[in-house]
Amino acid sequence: MYTALKDQLTAELAEIEQAGTFKHERVISTAQSNRVTAGPVGRDGAEVLNFCANNYLGLADDPRLVEAAKRALDERGFGMASVRFICGTQDLHLQLERAVSDFLGTEDTILFASCFDANGAVFEPLFGAEDAIISDALNHASLIDGIRLSKAARFRYRNADLEDLRTQLEAVAALREGKGARRTVIVTDGVFSMDGYLAPLEGICDLAEEFGALVMVDDSHAVGFMGATGAGTPEHFGVSERVDIYTGTFGKALGGASGGYVAARGEIVAMLRQKGRPYLFSNSLAPSIVAATLTALELIEGSGELRATLFRNAELFRRRMSEEGFELLPGEHAIVPVMFGDASLAAKVADAMLEQGVFVTAFSYPVVPQDRARIRVQLSAAHTEEDVETAVQAFVASRDAVQDGQDG
Ligand SMILES: *Cc1c(COP(=O)(O)O)cnc(C)c1O
Repeated sequence: MYTALKDQLTAELAEIEQAGTFKHERVISTAQSNRVTAGPVGRDGAEVLNFCANNYLGLADDPRLVEAAKRALDERGFGMASVRFICGTQDLHLQLERAVSDFLGTEDTILFASCFDANGAVFEPLFGAEDAIISDALNHASLIDGIRLSKAARFRYRNADLEDLRTQLEAVAALREGKGARRTVIVTDGVFSMDGYLAPLEGICDLAEEFGALVMVDDSHAVGFMGATGAGTPEHFGVSERVDIYTGTFGKALGGASGGYVAARGEIVAMLRQKGRPYLFSNSLAPSIVAATLTALELIEGSGELRATLFRNAELFRRRMSEEGFELLPGEHAIVPVMFGDASLAAKVADAMLEQGVFVTAFSYPVVPQDRARIRVQLSAAHTEEDVETAVQAFVASRDAVQDGQDG
């Protein structure tokens, strides 16, 4: 039986390789940090500066998180060997849920093994056949998948386009012979990861109010550092109270291990504890991760220093790269896309960067629009100013080397 499938898969894999979209992994043999030792599978790595992790606050190898995790390992063991509702809820899980609620200013929070799971859990129990879900066209894959699991009518608006959002809301209002949907929710990423652009949350909340819709924000690329206290894009835009459902990850700024959450009104969270399938049928978060994530939140709430360092680095990088004549997408986020347009040019520059000792990743179609290939640089509070300048110099040298290669 397998022979036919083997041949088909081999051919399909070769096609992916030929199209230049095969994802080759680099193997890191150190902790995740501003400097890592990384190399291709099966070969020795070299020490490189890392500018492609979501380690925004530099907490991924922070000794205080490591210590908290070790303490939890000693006191609470390695794993829970249960889902939450059978025998997998420790006091630590409840503490983290409380801490996230306090941090975001919501009534309650429910933990998941990942934000992918949180987004997979949230729609199906809350939105049925009489309801409507309106989703930004560039929303994260986990939102798209989660929405597919619900029976609600689905609508999509062009990325961050409030006019098109209005059009979709009007289409929802016309459903069921003008009765509209029973419930409508507008769903958006807080930050779009390929551009570093923020969702226009004020306008979205205004439209939601006008049309009687709920607002849901997946703030994975913002929680912990955007906004005055790090509570994310709703805080940044001053609309925290107008957002009904927050989802996010612990796998980026908040220590980077794993885990995700839905934070919302009490009844919404209560319903997800009863009916959210990834909550009911998947294992509890490991105690060491829960404890270290609690420490991450304490660190963030106790001081704005990490956030300040992150934004200083992002600003410095944006300014220096502009001075060196690179085209950047504008913004303030720690995601800084360096635009090359041509896919092979972006890939060649990224390869040259690695030879210069700087680890960055090129993205091209279909991940980003055709002819909008880029290198996505991600700054971290773990970077020093010297690291940032080293990266800028590597960009200059790599651009020159690739251009010389093409001229010659
Ligand atoms: C990273 C990301 C996720 C996935 O988070 P995990 O916890 O790693 O599953 C979901 N949504 C958005 C917007 C993300 O950026």
